[in-house]
Amino acid sequence: MTLIATDASSFRLLPLRFMRLPEMHAQDVLITSETGEYLFVSDLQLQALVDKQIPPEMPLYKDLLARHFIYEPGRHDPMPEMAAQYRSRKDFLFQGPALHIFVVTLRCNHTCQYCQVSRAPMAGAGHDLSEADARAAVDRVFESNAQALTVEFQGGEPLLAFERIQQIVEWVEARNLVEQRNVQFVVTTTLHHLTDEILDFAKHHQIQFSTSLDGPAALHNANRPTPSRDSYERTLEGVRRVREHMGHDAVSALTTLTARSLESPRAIIDEYVKQGFTSIALRPLSPYGFATRSAQRLDYPMERFVAFYKEALAYLLEINQQGVYLSESYTTLLLRNVLTPFASGYVDLRSPTGAGTGALVYNYDGYVYPSDEARMLLEMGEDGLRLGTVHQPLGDLLRSPVMEVLLASGVAEALPGCSDCALVPYCGADPVEHFARQGDPIGHRALSSFCTKNLGLLQHLFTQLRDGDDDDQRVFLSWLNRRAYSDVHLAGYRG
Ligand code: SF4
Repeated sequence: MTLIATDASSFRLLPLRFMRLPEMHAQDVLITSETGEYLFVSDLQLQALVDKQIPPEMPLYKDLLARHFIYEPGRHDPMPEMAAQYRSRKDFLFQGPALHIFVVTLRCNHTCQYCQVSRAPMAGAGHDLSEADARAAVDRVFESNAQALTVEFQGGEPLLAFERIQQIVEWVEARNLVEQRNVQFVVTTTLHHLTDEILDFAKHHQIQFSTSLDGPAALHNANRPTPSRDSYERTLEGVRRVREHMGHDAVSALTTLTARSLESPRAIIDEYVKQGFTSIALRPLSPYGFATRSAQRLDYPMERFVAFYKEALAYLLEINQQGVYLSESYTTLLLRNVLTPFASGYVDLRSPTGAGTGALVYNYDGYVYPSDEARMLLEMGEDGLRLGTVHQPLGDLLRSPVMEVLLASGVAEALPGCSDCALVPYCGADPVEHFARQGDPIGHRALSSFCTKNLGLLQHLFTQLRDGDDDDQRVFLSWLNRRAYSDVHLAGYRG
């Protein structure tokens, strides 16, 4: 709910939103300001704030003033500070798309039941990005004014089209001699098709690898079947080779959670510790591609994911306090939104939407999509979210009718349900997901799994920030700053 008071007294209210946190506590109301600052208050304090009955000598008064919930007319103009804070939080709007995903092939050796991108048989023809389309896409990359660019290769299994990857990397690097951008290359791969030639090239061009590890062998192999039934072993062999050739941090991993995965949070985390990873991404299933066809067997209500997440986070806090460094990626993004003046930059958690404005996908067939999820809908027979082709200038793609629809439905602060939600400064709009799940890019938050997830996770994190002990806060800070837990001594930011 949003409050704006107008009557005259010593202080005035600035726009604020409030929400009751689920756990019982004396300060069970979370209030958030327009600029993303927050405070925990009691019912009585909230009432006193609305009634403007808070004496200036109270510590609460000073907190409210400092965090831009109130201001003192004639004595203090909060607008310049708030404008600067707002600009920092929405800084991503000043630059064009930074993430450029090249789908170099749809071919893959896996037959994952939840596959989110669909795939074509290993020898399938007509499923690779052509040279002409790849060259045009590189032109689109540099039409963005983003100084930091990430060029990511996806599939299918992108290493099956390694020659195209080589060409694209070389074209980008040649162009960048003039452009002087900060370019990062990433290949999202099973690592099953690594060769010495690929490793040499990756090392020379500082290409990062991102792979999938769903947990221990039995779980991973059940989720990610191959004809030889050894996906786990081959992925770990790939991890070992990358680390040996390029260093320990050249490969990261993420996990996709099926209904079966939700039974084993500790085993999945233990597997990541065992394999020496320093971060884990706990990702619920997406409603795209083959996942929908297998939904009855694999899918689950988002509430189950939230329960899994809480158990997993408690275990992660425990082991981090014992000296293991393993951060959870999505938690770290949310903490960045909550605890720093800056947005995480993560496309799904942007408002206005990051689809198209923050990321573009160049599909194997030469069409351009505003997000990976949008092109996955294509494999479900839905091609309505195309922006155009790689041969159209970036300006035309970003002015396309699809982008108009996404932007009109992609400002969370203006969406029904989100506009008066206290969590909106830290959340996103994600019109593509709402289109996929509800057939409407605006969507209905009461029935939205995107909302169930972010509401559940953010409420839990705020509860942890309020109730967790100093050791929990130290873990969060160590994740935010990528420092060892033992190097973080003071929390110092409690609300
Ligand atoms: S999606 Fe849900 S949690 Fe996020 S801002 Fe909207 S209503 Fe709040």
